[in-house]
Amino acid sequence: MRLTSPSTIKYIMEKYNFRFSKRLGQNFLIDNTTVENIINGSGITNNDNVIEIGPGIGVMTYDMAKIANKIVAIEIDNSLLPVLGETLEEFENIKIINGDVLKLDINKIIEEEFGGKFPKVIANLPYYITTPIIMKLLEENANVTDIIVMVQKEVAERIVSKPSKKSYGVLSVAVQYYAKASTVMKVPRSVFMPQPSVESTVIHLKIRENPPVKLLSKPFFFRVVRAAFAMRRKTLLNTISGGNLGINKEQTKELLSNSNIDSIRRGETLSIDEFALLSNNIYKFVN
Ligand code: SAM
Repeated sequence: MRLTSPSTIKYIMEKYNFRFSKRLGQNFLIDNTTVENIINGSGITNNDNVIEIGPGIGVMTYDMAKIANKIVAIEIDNSLLPVLGETLEEFENIKIINGDVLKLDINKIIEEEFGGKFPKVIANLPYYITTPIIMKLLEENANVTDIIVMVQKEVAERIVSKPSKKSYGVLSVAVQYYAKASTVMKVPRSVFMPQPSVESTVIHLKIRENPPVKLLSKPFFFRVVRAAFAMRRKTLLNTISGGNLGINKEQTKELLSNSNIDSIRRGETLSIDEFALLSNNIYKFVN
């Protein structure tokens, strides 16, 4: 049974009375080359353990199981469980967990399933919860080495963006604080069934072992970042002084100057290093 074949999907729909759920973002890959390229791009070897989020009918799971040591696939839709039971029946290195990834304790799963050895995460995510899932893994310090995810093209652009680009924003800083982000490949709509209304991009997040900057307070750093991007057209002098950070305009001017940042610059031009220096200086001043 070739899982990327539309006729296989039709067979599954009839046999299991399966219906695509729009609510769960179910757009399944129907192109072998795309599946191969994603898996090759992820660099999985027979040494690797993998957590797959949202296996669907198991297209990527099937090919990865031939390479990886062990795969834990987390699928929310229980109507896909009997399907996965059939499509992946030849493998003994796959465990399916029926659940919502947003509600699961990922580090507990890693401990129980992989004896604590850090896995890679692979996912073709439903577009509407891409960011919450990525941020959950990053903010909860999930014990993973890499996250390879397919996301909506525009979200990928924001995640990998560098300063001074239109797509650079809170999401870029938040993800790049935890990981090195790069683009793996673009994926057209035509390789899905049903076709989504947006284009996709696969990105690779290599989780940093140590943060790229030293912060006096991580929550305060993100408050400064959010304030800086709150009104993109305004200068840092205005966004930071108006950002409820406990400093007035004069103090903001002084702190920006002490951080070697011109007060007429906009938030979108600041690198993570500059955000760190500025937030540390403001934090010291207000505490
Ligand atoms: N990986 C398959 C493929 O590429 O053909 C399916 C991808 S489809 C875009 C997303 C999958 O994620 C669906 O199978 C859907 O049921 C599942 N899903 C949606 N929300 C989820 C959640 N919160 N936790 C786990 N799986 C979820």
